[in-house]
Amino acid sequence: NSVWAKVPLGPRDAILGVTEAFKADKNPKKINLGVGAYRDDKGKPYVLPSVQKAEQQIAKAGHDKEYLPITGLPEFVNAAIKLAYGEDSKPLKEGRIAATQTISGTGALRIGLDFMARFFPHKSIYLPDKTWANHAAIVKDCGLEVKHYKYYDPETVGVAFEGFKADVKAAPNGSAFLLHAAAFNPLGTDLTKDQWVELCQIFKEKNHFAFFDMAYQGFASGSFEDDAFPVRHFVEQGFPIALCQSFAKNMGLYGERVGAFSLVCADKDEKARVDSQLKILIRPMYSNPPVHGARLAAQILNSPELYKDWRVEVKGMADRIISMREALYELLQNKYKTPGDWSHVKKQIGMFSYTGLKPEQVDALATNASIYLTRDGRISMAALNSSNIEYFAENVSKAVK
Ligand code: PLP
Repeated sequence: NSVWAKVPLGPRDAILGVTEAFKADKNPKKINLGVGAYRDDKGKPYVLPSVQKAEQQIAKAGHDKEYLPITGLPEFVNAAIKLAYGEDSKPLKEGRIAATQTISGTGALRIGLDFMARFFPHKSIYLPDKTWANHAAIVKDCGLEVKHYKYYDPETVGVAFEGFKADVKAAPNGSAFLLHAAAFNPLGTDLTKDQWVELCQIFKEKNHFAFFDMAYQGFASGSFEDDAFPVRHFVEQGFPIALCQSFAKNMGLYGERVGAFSLVCADKDEKARVDSQLKILIRPMYSNPPVHGARLAAQILNSPELYKDWRVEVKGMADRIISMREALYELLQNKYKTPGDWSHVKKQIGMFSYTGLKPEQVDALATNASIYLTRDGRISMAALNSSNIEYFAENVSKAVK
């Protein structure tokens, strides 16, 4: 008998399953709305021009392939936290942010939550009641208990802010909450600035800990500053936040796996202790991170010229997605008179739209029109373009009627 005879077959990944079904479909009109990667208006993956220029500059510089330090490329990590916290950030200026390069946003979550499991007083963290599926998986694999807070309001396909606040108030003092900084995945609905300010006040009263996942800085509004508002506001209010960053979406560096994890510390001494523990955590896991993607990101973040280009390119991606939202709303609501109120499609922000489509309607779209999305009704807005949006809207309308 084989050693692995008792290994059970695990469930398929929901998103990869969508991609497999899409690939097997021969219909030339097929659309894959499952995967969270940006596409241009021709439906093609987009390598940012600033990234192409950075590649050329790096090739010319002729770097070696030596190992990075355990916590990564310093010029990348320093620039990444500057982008997130803002150059005027007090803890940044005071040199009390502990930070490390990570294997993109997922790796940042893994390192951050592993750190929490080792050192945070409570062995649990609150996640929104709808969230990126990997969050719960990472939390559990780090040995923490998953708790939930109210976020999704099925009535409005928006944020249940009253319920959210009630759960924050009901949690034991000093609890940890995972918060999406911007472009909430899968719902596409963020808190308003006023709501963040209100929430922050409650966190203060309850002495809660904010653990931010910021996988989409710049990608939601097109502005790095606006998308980082919650992070910067909590820090201004004196919170010792944790922050996960990813450059997958905003630099289009998906497969390069470029990210960062940071913790705001009370002083330099605390930072030194936290840094030492981050190294102890990372060393037996993967020793040190890959170098190429971090070099690319550092080149862009540290060169005034490339940085300027990049800002424009990010705004271009955000704006194209926003224009698709407006077009989709017009088509669904006004042209095809689809039953229901579709204004949430226009109000939502970021890569995804939570359409409110039911699992049976999602199945009908796949069977009848070769349109693929996850059964929770989430679509990647970035997969829509001027050539396929009409076909999509027409078929959604049919599926709903
Ligand atoms: N966090 C959220 C909310 C995400 O949606 C994603 C990617 O889809 C990530 C983190 C991490 O992505 P990556 O590991 O590719 O940076």
